[in-house]
Amino acid sequence: MPATFPRRIVILGATGSIGASTLDVISRHPERYAVFALTAHRDAERLARLCLRHLPRYAVMADEGAAKELQRLLKDVSCPTEALGGAQALCEVASHPEADMVMAAIVGAAGLPPTLAAALAGKKILLANKEALVMAGPVFMRAVKDSGARLLPIDSEHNAIFQSLPADYSGDMEKSGVRGILLTASGGPFRTTPREELASVTPDEACAHPKWRMGRKISVDSATMMNKGLEVIEAHWLFGVPAENIRVVVHPQSVVHSLVQYVDGSVLAELGHPDMRTPIAQALAYPERIFSGVEPLDLFAVAALHFERPDFERFPCLALAYRALEAGDGAPAALNAANEVAVRRFLEGRVRFVDIPGLIERVMERTPASRLESLGDVLAADAAARRMAEELAGEMNS
Ligand code: NAD
Ligand code: MG
Repeated sequence: MPATFPRRIVILGATGSIGASTLDVISRHPERYAVFALTAHRDAERLARLCLRHLPRYAVMADEGAAKELQRLLKDVSCPTEALGGAQALCEVASHPEADMVMAAIVGAAGLPPTLAAALAGKKILLANKEALVMAGPVFMRAVKDSGARLLPIDSEHNAIFQSLPADYSGDMEKSGVRGILLTASGGPFRTTPREELASVTPDEACAHPKWRMGRKISVDSATMMNKGLEVIEAHWLFGVPAENIRVVVHPQSVVHSLVQYVDGSVLAELGHPDMRTPIAQALAYPERIFSGVEPLDLFAVAALHFERPDFERFPCLALAYRALEAGDGAPAALNAANEVAVRRFLEGRVRFVDIPGLIERVMERTPASRLESLGDVLAADAAARRMAEELAGEMNS
């Protein structure tokens, strides 16, 4: 039975950058979308303000203490939203029988359990949380397939690829005449910074992305280009394309959001302003189209498009991600976990920007091969790599 309007949406990570863009788009279409649940990590005040504005049935704080604060704040303003707390509550709202769609926009590995819960429950999933797919690729894709969930990519590159593939694309490149994927990358804030200056760049400099306004973790990932590495792995799982058919193309303007090459020589792409409301609106309404708040591109203002090869020496994280994808099984989970530890430590001022790839490489070298059959296997690979990264980083500091 087709779902009726308004569609009920769960936003995991509602207080973040993607959460804000999602709320902006759905607020423009109150007849189509209703907020069913909003979730956040610790910032109860911010989530309370969003509850007052969007009146969800549930609001979940991952942190139990913050959930108590949220309960009190909502009571003070007589907001009818029910406040819940803890990791299990995140999974419950993500798989709630009355929810139609789940925007997965928690940052990092913390987003995996609720996103997987949505997949197991057969939801329409709007996937921004790339780390969940990177770490759990085979487990996550099997859950989607077995339950009949619909997975729609929000990452701008993957959304562009999705739009440039045939509508009936089944993951079989040959059948659809697909030769490969060109994944565009802005190159981040340090694309042309002299190499010797990279040792002393600050977290604020790393987070000052030239084209996109995003959370701090993904901004650092863009500066190291680990973000593109994670996206290569993400593209592999979403579209069934092997690593050797996914090429990274540096395109600092971020106008072309990625391209698909076909065997007949055709190259299809999606172009637009670097504004996440476009892929969010595309995925929300798919296969229909709705206004996102983003104006069309003015090609006369763009005038010229610029592309260059990625520099794998300046950005070793990119090569590490390809290596993890080729190694398979638990290697991408280890890559992702080590990266999360390294980035957090960099943001805390405890390791240098240039130490990030070395730390990840050392964790990967010491990680034994492991099979991924279940969520438990993924979480074990994640935890082992995290422990190792903390230890190695501690040694680097002492
Ligand atoms: P952000 O830091 O702005 O927001 C993260 C959200 O996750 C917040 O709501 C926060 O409360 C929540 N959160 C953080 N830690 C949590 C935890 N331990 N448990 C539960 N909730 C937690 O991040 P963002 O920029 O919105 O990115 C979110 C995801 O989307 C990331 O995976 C990122 O890679 C991806 N993404 C973002 C953009 C972008 O433009 N911002 C583009 C493409 C993909
Ligand atoms: Mg992206």
